[in-house]
Amino acid sequence: MSSVLGDEECPRCGGVLCWERHTRGYWHWTRCLRCGFYESERLIWNDDTPALDDEGNWRFDHTKVVGRGAYVLKPKDAIASQVGSLGEDFGPELLRDFLDMDLIQIDCDPAKSYITYFDPETRAVTVLWGEMKPDLYVEYADE
Ligand SMILES: [Zn+2]
Repeated sequence: MSSVLGDEECPRCGGVLCWERHTRGYWHWTRCLRCGFYESERLIWNDDTPALDDEGNWRFDHTKVVGRGAYVLKPKDAIASQVGSLGEDFGPELLRDFLDMDLIQIDCDPAKSYITYFDPETRAVTVLWGEMKPDLYVEYADE
């Protein structure tokens, strides 16, 4: 298994859009840790062979989250962070629920963790909690 990591400017928020692509095309993902945009494609397998569509092309599972924000949660006793995107229904009113459920359970380090809110009309990214580093290069948790 080998893959290539890279990054480019996020077209939604101007942040860092990170990506990873498997060199043989079996899967790839793209994620922005400011606005929460996330997209991935993963090859579907039938036992040891790729699943094919009616025309003989490989079939992929496709996931896309437009994202109303992102989170990076760094547990105090772990090396890797948990990262993710907040769905379309996320807003400031849901922040309290999120804080209660997730942060308390995993005991995050607020200096290395954050939650953002992305406003699609103004394209502004607001840090709701924690501290977002300017370069956004963080250790990734396994997806
Ligand atoms: Zn973005």
